[in-house]
Amino acid sequence: MQKIALLYDASQVVLSTFNLDEVLEQILGIVRDYFHIQNAAVLLLDPSTQELFVRTAIGRPIDESHLRMAFGQGLIGSSAQLKRPVYAPDVSKDLRYIGHFPLTKSEVAIPLMVRDEVVGVLDIQSEELDAFDSETLDLLALFSTQASIALENARLYTLEQRRTKQLEAINAIARQTTAVLNLDELLVKVCDLVLQHFPVDHVVVLLSDEESRLAVRAHKGKLTPILPQGSLLPAGTGSGTRALEVGKTVVENEVAFVPHYVAGFVETRSEMCVPLIFFGEKLGVLALESTKPGNFAQEDVPPLESVADICSAAIQNAHHFEKAQQLAYVDGLTGIYNRRYFEMQIATEIERASRYQGRMTVIMVDIDNFKRLNDEFGHLLGDEVLRQVSNVFVQQLRKVDVVCRYGGEEFAILVPQTSGANALEVAEKLRRAVAGFRFPGVPVKVTISAGIAEYPTHGRTRDELVAAADAALYVSKEAGRDRISGAGASRKTTA
Ligand code: GH3
Ligand code: MG
Ligand code: MG
Repeated sequence: MQKIALLYDASQVVLSTFNLDEVLEQILGIVRDYFHIQNAAVLLLDPSTQELFVRTAIGRPIDESHLRMAFGQGLIGSSAQLKRPVYAPDVSKDLRYIGHFPLTKSEVAIPLMVRDEVVGVLDIQSEELDAFDSETLDLLALFSTQASIALENARLYTLEQRRTKQLEAINAIARQTTAVLNLDELLVKVCDLVLQHFPVDHVVVLLSDEESRLAVRAHKGKLTPILPQGSLLPAGTGSGTRALEVGKTVVENEVAFVPHYVAGFVETRSEMCVPLIFFGEKLGVLALESTKPGNFAQEDVPPLESVADICSAAIQNAHHFEKAQQLAYVDGLTGIYNRRYFEMQIATEIERASRYQGRMTVIMVDIDNFKRLNDEFGHLLGDEVLRQVSNVFVQQLRKVDVVCRYGGEEFAILVPQTSGANALEVAEKLRRAVAGFRFPGVPVKVTISAGIAEYPTHGRTRDELVAAADAALYVSKEAGRDRISGAGASRKTTA
């Protein structure tokens, strides 16, 4: 009866905290102080492998890697499988016994159960033969039910805390992503926030291109990437591709066991890929990486799917915004930049050139006798020629050059970090390309004239430069068309 009273006290102690580490410490403290046992360990169930691993121990130091037990393995595994205490009064005579300590003579393993599920095992070893009488065994069994409740409480509490944290994280991510309309900025933000709020080592956003191939668009964290940013995943491979294909989250808790695993990072041991889907449209994948095997619990899936949903909406928003912005700067007929873009860009380029004492050039281009072409072959064919000439320009110029439809059949080209002399060559190349191009369905030759002005030689402001290039263009026209002139020449003629 007195022992029962002690046990009651013990239970009170065990149940006094929700912190798992404290609960475990209390359990083993009671085993030591109330039951006078020197060597004991609490093993917990690893749900991902269904193995029991040593979580805390007293007495002899336990090498954790040695003590992972499958159900049915050893006395510990047997007690978990049988769901009842297993006692070996003389371990040398028990076939189930697997020795870890040569001094052990008797051992008792008591399953820790919540409802009908085993959550762990309390393992006690003694250097004496038959060290535990039946009364002690009964008391230990009784105590273990209290310990199980304490463990379960701690687990639920941790879960609840984690859930509260995750809800706060989802809220923060929702608040902070909706305001970001620049796609690249948004993706970096998403990586940052997920990294901050979830227990992961690296976050990656992969977006799908037109051919449904995934490319790394942003990533953040401490792991070493194998694929550089922007590179495409090999077609049809990887957990990300699979997640997007099936439209469901894929969790890999030990990538070493995944056949044909395509590693994104050197240190990844577990990975979770959440598809980014917006109203049925597959946008990409949010991938979370961890160096720990078994990092992702089933409970982590719904909150991260919420995060992915928020991100999908934000990504789609940013996409639309980008498109709308682009449309505002694109000429509807030719698909090249419009006058509005030219005005914005020339200001930027003048600014840059003045800051670095560099040079830049403006080329004004006008199609020769375009009115006649329109009159003879119709406006639709005129439109087609405008498109074709634009194509020729785009093909001939570098990516950094900015070609815009200035108006009607006039084009303005910005050639950054280039002198007038070099830009003359550029313009000459364009002139030759157009003159040599056979425009489908146009029986006459199409030619262009151009005028070139260099910053700062021919002007320091937008107006000065455009006026100088225009004047040079006028010189080309006067001289008979299908030719180019630099602004220097225009000064000479007007002087
Ligand atoms: P020049 O060699 O001196 O440049 O002669 P031009 O005939 O090209 O010059 P002009 O300025 O007299 O005529 C330009 C013509 O371009 C007038 C206009 O009908 C035509 N045009 C302007 N915008 C468009 C367009 O979007 N589509 C078509 N098809 N024609 C256009
Ligand atoms: Mg013209
Ligand atoms: Mg004109």
